[in-house]
Amino acid sequence: MQTSEDGLALRRESVWNVVTDDDRAKIEVLSMEYRKYLDAAKTEREAVELTERMAIANGFVRLEELERLAQEDPGIELKGRRGYIKNKEKNILLFIIGSRPLRDGFRMIGSHVDSPRLDLKPNPIVEKEKLTILKTHYYGGIKKYHFANVPLALHGVLFRRDGSMLKISIGEDGDDPVFTVNDLLVHLAQKEQYERKMPEVIKGEELNILFSSIPEKGPSAKDKVKHMALRILHERYGIEEEDFVSSEIEAVPAGKSRNVGIDSSMIGAYGQDDRICAFSSIEAIMSLGVPEYTSLAFLADKEETHSEGNTAMQSNFFPWAISRLLALQGEHSNLSVMDALMRSKALSSDVGAALNPTFPKVHEENNAPRIGNGIYIQKYSGTRGKYEASDANAEFISEVRKIFNDNGIVWQTGEMGKVDEGGGGTIAKYMARLGMEVLDAGPALISMHSCFEISSKADLWMTVRAYRAFYEAT
Ligand code: MN
Ligand code: MN
Repeated sequence: MQTSEDGLALRRESVWNVVTDDDRAKIEVLSMEYRKYLDAAKTEREAVELTERMAIANGFVRLEELERLAQEDPGIELKGRRGYIKNKEKNILLFIIGSRPLRDGFRMIGSHVDSPRLDLKPNPIVEKEKLTILKTHYYGGIKKYHFANVPLALHGVLFRRDGSMLKISIGEDGDDPVFTVNDLLVHLAQKEQYERKMPEVIKGEELNILFSSIPEKGPSAKDKVKHMALRILHERYGIEEEDFVSSEIEAVPAGKSRNVGIDSSMIGAYGQDDRICAFSSIEAIMSLGVPEYTSLAFLADKEETHSEGNTAMQSNFFPWAISRLLALQGEHSNLSVMDALMRSKALSSDVGAALNPTFPKVHEENNAPRIGNGIYIQKYSGTRGKYEASDANAEFISEVRKIFNDNGIVWQTGEMGKVDEGGGGTIAKYMARLGMEVLDAGPALISMHSCFEISSKADLWMTVRAYRAFYEAT
C-alpha cells in the first residue's frame, strides 16, 4: 500500500498514477489476452480446456509424461519441468518443479473457474401454453432477476444413450439463436409482483428459459410444440429427451466482454468471479523460470456452492496430486505429503467486493477496496463474527506485504462490507485446513455475481505482477 510522504500514514493510490506510458501499453495487451480468455471460457469445463491448451503451448506436459520420463531415466533432471494434472475436466493443477525438494513446501495460487448461472434440470423440456420452456435450477449466489430478459447461451456437455458425447455451445456466434428468461411486463406487474420481496421478484421456479414455439403439423396430439423441439434436437444433434439426464448444460449470459468507460479503463463481462484470478495465476506461473519452491496454480470447481464434490478444493484430488508429485521425486511416505502441506504458502486468489459509488453505505469506508487501487488482500472472510472464516496469520500477511512492497506492487486491504452486512467465503479455509499459510488476494469487482461484472484493467495487471512476485519470493 502507498504511504504519505513522511511514511507514517496509509494512503490509497490509483494504479493509474504510478504507471508509465510503456506500462499502459502492456496493460492494454494483457487486457486483450484476458478478454479472449473470458470470451472462450464461459464455464468451468471450457476454462479447464482452454487452460490446458495454453499450458501445452507454454511447455507444460501431462504428469504421466514426466512419470514416464523419470521411469525411463531415474537420473533425469526434474527442476524447472512444467506439468499439469487435470481432474475430471473441471479442475486443473499446473506446476513447475522448483530447485528445492517438494517436501520443503510449495508456493500455490488457488482460484476457481465455476461461476453463478442457471443449470438445466435433468428433465428440462416442458410445453406450456403452446410454447416450450426449459426448467432450470440456479447455481451459486445470484439475484434471480438478473437472469431475466437477457440473451442467454447454452454451454455444456451431453452424453447420448450410446455414451457418445456432444459438446454444446449455442448462442455465442452471431448466427446462433439465443435463449431468454421472460419477466412479467410492467403493465401487469403492479399488483402481485410489485409486492414481492427482492429475492422473489423472479422466483426459482420462474427461471424458465424460452426454448421454442413451432408446433408439429398433423393430427392433433398432445405437446406438439415440444415434439417439434425434440425433432429439431434429434435431427440437428442426434439426441433424444432421455439424454438430458446425462448432461450438464449451463445457461450463461450470451456475448463477449466489453471495454467499459469513456477511458476504456475497465472490463465488463460475465464470469470475472473468478476467471480474472484464474487467468492472472496462469499468466504468472507461465512467466516463471526455475522457481526455488515448486509453484502451483490450482483452478478449482464448485467454489460457488461451498467447494463440495470431487472437483472442488475440499476433495482428495489436491493431496493426491501432491502425493504423486512427491512420488515423482522418489518420496513415497505419508509424512512427506504432510510435510509438504504444512510447510507451504498460498494465496487464495479470489475477487473482492469493490465499493460501488451508488451503494457506498454497505461498506466501512476505511476497509473497502476500490477498483483501480491495486490487488486487494483480505485477512479474513466469513459472516457474523467471522464464522467459517479463514483468518490469515499476521506473520504470513507480514511476509506477503513485504513481497508486495519490495516489488512495487500497488495493493489495498479491507473486508467484505460492514460488520454483519453480509459476507462470503473463498477456498482459503480449505487450503488452510491442510496446514498451509493462506491469504486471500485478488482484484476487486463492482457488481460481483451479476451478468456484467466490472474489473479494472490496472488491477488485472497489478494482480499478475503480484502473483509472479509471490511465486518468485524465497
Ligand atoms: Mn469467487
Ligand atoms: Mn463468487
